[in-house]
Amino acid sequence: MLNKQRRFCTTCKEEIHGRSDKRFCSDYCRAVHYNQVDTEVTLLMRRVNYQIRKNRRILARMNPKGKSKVARVKLLEAGLNFQYHTHTCTTRSGQVFRFCYDQGYYEMRNNYVKILAQNQLTE
Ligand SMILES: [Zn+2]
Repeated sequence: MLNKQRRFCTTCKEEIHGRSDKRFCSDYCRAVHYNQVDTEVTLLMRRVNYQIRKNRRILARMNPKGKSKVARVKLLEAGLNFQYHTHTCTTRSGQVFRFCYDQGYYEMRNNYVKILAQNQLTE
């Protein structure tokens, strides 16, 4: 008894004949699919990079002396997105600063944010 599951091309949805592990009907459809995936990843990376650079610009502007305390709402109003950062650093006192390149921030409990430039960390 034949009990073959019908398979369809990921790109064009046409039925696939032949090997059962095939996801695409042709090299063309495979290429179209992976180009599309690349494009989506590239767009995502561009959006994230743009936001991190924007965050850095906002933090640097509000932190001219390398060490500041700013109301959280002021950063939000300026367009800072707290989701995006490049890395974290933990100070000796155990505060975890999130960095956007050279500008780090730490959200305090009182709705203020400490901003610290990278070169102020080793103090
Ligand atoms: Zn196809």
